[in-house]
Amino acid sequence: MKRAKLLLLGAATALALSGTAARAAIYTIQHVTVIDGTGRAPQPDMTVVVDGQRITTVTPSAAAGAPQGNVIDGTGKYLIPGLMDVHIHLRGWQPEKNPDGTHKVDRQLALSSLASYIYEGVTTVFDAGNQPENILEMRRAERAGEIQSPRIFATGNLVTYPGSHGDAMAVRISDFEKDKALLDKHIAEQKPDMLKLTYDEEGWGARPMITLMPTDLLQQIIEYYNEHGIRTTVHVSNEKRAIEAIYAGIDTLAHPDIQGPVSDNFVRLMAARKTPFATTLTIGENYSRLVEHPEYLDRPDYVASVSAAERQKLKTETLAQYKARSWTWWMKLMTPICEENIRKIVAAGGVAALGTDQSSGPAAHREMELLVQAGIPALEVIKIATLNGAVFLGKADELGSVETGKLADLVLLNSNPIDSIDNSEDIAFVVKNGAIIDESKLPLAGGPQKRRFTGRP
Ligand SMILES: [Zn+2]
Repeated sequence: MKRAKLLLLGAATALALSGTAARAAIYTIQHVTVIDGTGRAPQPDMTVVVDGQRITTVTPSAAAGAPQGNVIDGTGKYLIPGLMDVHIHLRGWQPEKNPDGTHKVDRQLALSSLASYIYEGVTTVFDAGNQPENILEMRRAERAGEIQSPRIFATGNLVTYPGSHGDAMAVRISDFEKDKALLDKHIAEQKPDMLKLTYDEEGWGARPMITLMPTDLLQQIIEYYNEHGIRTTVHVSNEKRAIEAIYAGIDTLAHPDIQGPVSDNFVRLMAARKTPFATTLTIGENYSRLVEHPEYLDRPDYVASVSAAERQKLKTETLAQYKARSWTWWMKLMTPICEENIRKIVAAGGVAALGTDQSSGPAAHREMELLVQAGIPALEVIKIATLNGAVFLGKADELGSVETGKLADLVLLNSNPIDSIDNSEDIAFVVKNGAIIDESKLPLAGGPQKRRFTGRP
């Protein structure tokens, strides 16, 4: 079984990456400081050439020949890879159903949400569980080049044990042989880029215990998807379940441990195994943030990404609900513990990848702030937000760094993100698949925005 798994994992990775966006022109960014996403120190005065969809040159400007195509002066600017959020749940699906049983979809809401990622420099997302009629249509439209969107990878439905965590969005499996046809249907119809499972007591937080998937069933499902060339991730929230999932063969974890401080053994295990895990601090922290600092919604990135009506509702109705909920204050208490868990694993050599568990671009920047607050150096946080996301998704051969031969997903910044991680929001322009995004044409919930860079070719 193990050998078949290894052979099949590589095959599908090169597909599904390129999309069919119009071929971009060739252009040269000169005299820019490159922070390439690998963790390497910033490289000043570099020249980067983008030809079509790919980065074809990354070299010191002194050694570069004549510029190719249009020239962009990157003096005083910083070039980082496009950010990657490997745990989102795209908005758009509605609780109401159509007569055929599928969920109604608010397409405009999904499109504005996707636009907010691009606007904020997030060029790749992994949707870790959604109604298929919402996310799979957006994935299709993105790959057909029909919409302004980050690259979308998705599980479609997730897979869980009946009655367990995430049941409402799940294919429910109670017995491998009996229910295998449901897995075949999920693979054939939804073509998951990565399978999301859940393996957790619904008792996490302060709720009563409910059913948990048996570990041998978890292992059978992981092997089955791997044998179809599909990587896997799993919702876990504590160290015990994380360890069991890792030894059941899981490829990645969809969350860090937030139930309590991790043991030294777990830190060493994560460093030895290098099982990538999504950071997802923002989802827990956002409740108390709204209650205590609702003014964050007035910052330009949120004004662009969230409609005025929704910001108003968040500041009033939603704020009052969060304030009254014990979950808000439990999460506030646990966030520093979770931050320290992540810091320890990263310091030991484990692989964290930025994930927010949310549905808008600004959340990725909040996640980076929280990671820096955790005590992780900014240069490492940029790696977590870029190359490590590609590692998590099994796409590091094509995505995640500013290196020759990779697909050109890039963010040009006006100020140095190493000085302050908030400077990752000080965006001049965003490049996806070689094409410089015109933000004035993005369907943002906050309305059309001005182009931020005037020196474009
Ligand atoms: Zn999630």
